[in-house]
Amino acid sequence: MSSDSIDLSERAAAIKFWARQILSLPDEEIVTVSEFNCGKPTCPNLHTVVMVMSQEKPPRKMVVNKPLADISEFDVLEAYSDSLRDPA
Ligand SMILES: [Zn+2]
Repeated sequence: MSSDSIDLSERAAAIKFWARQILSLPDEEIVTVSEFNCGKPTCPNLHTVVMVMSQEKPPRKMVVNKPLADISEFDVLEAYSDSLRDPA
């Protein structure tokens, strides 16, 4: 039997935690993590988007080209660097 849903919610919580650490986010900023399919037939992977929502600043979007379950702290860091170079 698989426990994918439990593992995924744990991983989503870990990704939120890493994002909070990397961006030094205060508690009032909200982090959401979700998977999406870009729809390209050549691209079988799900991607993951990390959104940071703040009262004062525009939302920040970081995309990792991997399914949620495969994301490490380094991927979050890399997505953050990418978002600085190419703001969405
Ligand atoms: Zn894709």
